[in-house]
Amino acid sequence: MTHVITSLCLRDGGCATVCPVECIVPGKPEDQYPLYYIDPDTCIDCGACVPECPWEAIFPEDEVPAPYVAKGGEKLSMPVGTPGFAEVYDGTNHDGEDVHLEGTKTLEAGEEVDLTPDIEVNAKYFSDGPGYSTAG
Ligand code: SF4
Ligand code: SF4
Repeated sequence: MTHVITSLCLRDGGCATVCPVECIVPGKPEDQYPLYYIDPDTCIDCGACVPECPWEAIFPEDEVPAPYVAKGGEKLSMPVGTPGFAEVYDGTNHDGEDVHLEGTKTLEAGEEVDLTPDIEVNAKYFSDGPGYSTAG
């Protein structure tokens, strides 16, 4: 098992600072991999990252919601160019640095979204995406 970062992630970065096995990495390039990602082969399922996320984007793999029912106002982040994700998000991360994302969408209260496709996206970042080399 592993924990999974879903597309509710807005690159705050706080999760990566607490992971005891340093298995959370910022996606690069950002326009294609806008989230942070958890290396499923390294994650020890300690759960320390979950309360650190201001956007409640992290779930144990078997608890990733389908559907996720939106509170309203939270954002989903996708690769730039994804249809329906044309909003720009400007914020600051855990370290006070600027975050600029161009493929986001604000959810309406009660809107339902299946977040389970993020499980495969997360794993693929390490198996055949750019995380393969950074994960060592
Ligand atoms: S703390 Fe949440 S928003 Fe920030 S990088 Fe981690 S998962 Fe993404
Ligand atoms: S559950 Fe623990 S080991 Fe896994 S990513 Fe989160 S902090 Fe790291």
